Amino acid sequence: MTESMDSTTAREVFDSDGIRSAVQEILISIGEDPKREGLIDTPNRVVELYRDIFSGLRSDPEEVLSVFFEENHTDPVAFTDISFNSICEHHLLPFHGYAHIGYIPKGRVIGASKVSRLVDVLAKRPQIQERLTTQIADIVYRCLDASASYVFMSAEHMCMALRGVKKPDSRIITSAQRGGEQEVKQLIKTISLSKS
Ligand SMILES: [Zn+2]
Repeated sequence: MTESMDSTTAREVFDSDGIRSAVQEILISIGEDPKREGLIDTPNRVVELYRDIFSGLRSDPEEVLSVFFEENHTDPVAFTDISFNSICEHHLLPFHGYAHIGYIPKGRVIGASKVSRLVDVLAKRPQIQERLTTQIADIVYRCLDASASYVFMSAEHMCMALRGVKKPDSRIITSAQRGGEQEVKQLIKTISLSKS
């Protein structure tokens, strides 16, 4: 009981003043003058930016898939090349790329806009690509009561591109699957065909 109340509270909190003063602190800590003309509005800009890029913390991803159509369709369905932007929780820098999402329904199907919305809700949080991938696969599998789900994600991470290795075009690939092996194979084949 207490736990669920805590997580609800956490989801509703967005402390603009806290962000504003934290950004000011960071500017001072890196040796900048937060009163300099170019920086004076930066804390406010970051508040508005964070309100958007972390908005997924205040939405329930399972609710997105609670509206589906009943349809007697039991063959693979795939949505390919869904672009997404997320924030790496290790460095608070963006990573962006595309996702392919497939599932095999057992009577529940969803539209493309719901899938994009699901990706958005989960991506607009501090994330790591691995978790983002498995969360999408889990929620599609569970909420649609599907026979199988498969998610493939490919992304470029700014924290890699900006520092160290500096290989700007390198990408991280992740995938996750739920359900029977044969069904998952069918999904991978369907998505691969769309790429050829
Ligand atoms: Zn990172």
